[in-house]
Amino acid sequence: MALISEIDLRGRELTAAELRRAIPRAELDVAAATDAVTPILAEVHERGAAALRDLAERFDGVRPTHLRVPAEELQRALEGLDPTLREALDLAATRVRAGHEAQLPTDTETRLSAGGYVRQRWVPVNRVGLYVPGGLALYPSSVVMNVVAAQVAGVRGLAVASPPQRDNGGLPDATVLAACALLGVEEVYAVGGAQAVAMFAYGASGENDADGGAGSELCAPVDVITGPGNVYVAAAKRAVRGIVGIDSEAGPTEIAILADATANPDHVAADLVSQAEHDPNAASVLVTDSPDLAAAVTERLEARAAATKHTERVRTALGGPQSAIVLVDDVEQGLAVVNAYAAEHLEIQTANAEADAARITSAGAVFVGAYSPVSLGDYLAGSNHVLPTGGCAHYSSGLGVMSFMKSMQVISYDAAALAEVTDPLVALAGIEDLPAHGEAALARREG
Ligand code: NAD
Repeated sequence: MALISEIDLRGRELTAAELRRAIPRAELDVAAATDAVTPILAEVHERGAAALRDLAERFDGVRPTHLRVPAEELQRALEGLDPTLREALDLAATRVRAGHEAQLPTDTETRLSAGGYVRQRWVPVNRVGLYVPGGLALYPSSVVMNVVAAQVAGVRGLAVASPPQRDNGGLPDATVLAACALLGVEEVYAVGGAQAVAMFAYGASGENDADGGAGSELCAPVDVITGPGNVYVAAAKRAVRGIVGIDSEAGPTEIAILADATANPDHVAADLVSQAEHDPNAASVLVTDSPDLAAAVTERLEARAAATKHTERVRTALGGPQSAIVLVDDVEQGLAVVNAYAAEHLEIQTANAEADAARITSAGAVFVGAYSPVSLGDYLAGSNHVLPTGGCAHYSSGLGVMSFMKSMQVISYDAAALAEVTDPLVALAGIEDLPAHGEAALARREG
């Protein structure tokens, strides 16, 4: 049996709804995981630090000594960081910072009359909770993506949470801690999964250290929670939305590649495998009009899946219903399929990659041409790797400075400017049977 299944759409006229369903998504979806996370959220809400310790033991197999990572552990992790890795993280941060500074919005002011203006002022939120995954793989790069975007936005209060690791004495992964220290983040928690989301949304009190100690407020509630994670993290973020703001759902990863006969099958296979190693639920999808390319990629996938480190995980992901090679009539139909799928990551490896990429309307991020693999965007492209999954790219964007900002309208009118519009204001208030509204404006005209 082939490692990856094939879906043949050639010669088929699909309705819009059929197009959306043409590529199946992971079986374990965010809605299903909601049942699993609801009691976890309630437990943290009610029992704070004590619940966080119990849940770490249950899900991460370790009872953290410190729920909030002590400053000396952050410093120790930074000092222990391999110099090459430190340089790479520094470079990633510099490039991501440059990419994000360009996103900063500018305030606008509209003069409605000589003495009246409306200004749109952009301000960062006060405090954010940044999630950094750490179950199957470790993601110091996600520290960079979350933290740099928040810092560029101007957020003052940054807290990071990442699962406690058994092999690091119940602290988060050492490189995750080192990345936090490198970027100047001082508030870091050894808390993972849905429980971290609950801690950020509700705040948590109780003792920090297993042996007693530190004060009663462990973690203050935040305004916005961002960051990628598995399906439980995504479900928890969906559940607390409204109490706090969240970025788009960034769940199990997805790559779709639109490729024609000009693509290199080995590069295509390498990119499909690179996303499959994240998670057994990861989706790797090739959409092509070339049966020859499809056959060559299938062959290269077998070889690469067998030779790569996380063989089991990769094979499970490629063999899952969410991964497939999709045969289409031509690039035109391929564009319709990938736009309807709205992948988290979309590579365009076609003869006219730039022109085809310009026709993409829904994707978390688009990687154009033969030399822009998704792994470049995961680390060093200067873009953000926290991107919408599960079709959320139809309506939402990847993490960026706007995830941490909101706008306020500022209204300033002088006496003459108000007088100019008092009569129509009174008329509108009258029609809505809110005469006191009109009276508030009239009171000024009358002195
Ligand atoms: P994770 O930190 O997201 O999840 C680990 C936590 O999941 C554990 O601490 C535990 O609390 C919780 N958990 C595990 N099993 C559970 C269960 N049965 N019930 C309730 N909670 C449970 O780390 P991970 O598992 O390695 O997942 C990382 C995910 O992040 C991957 O799916 C990867 O694709 C994704 N990712 C996405 C992006 C993106 O931008 N979309 C970027 C990086 C990583």
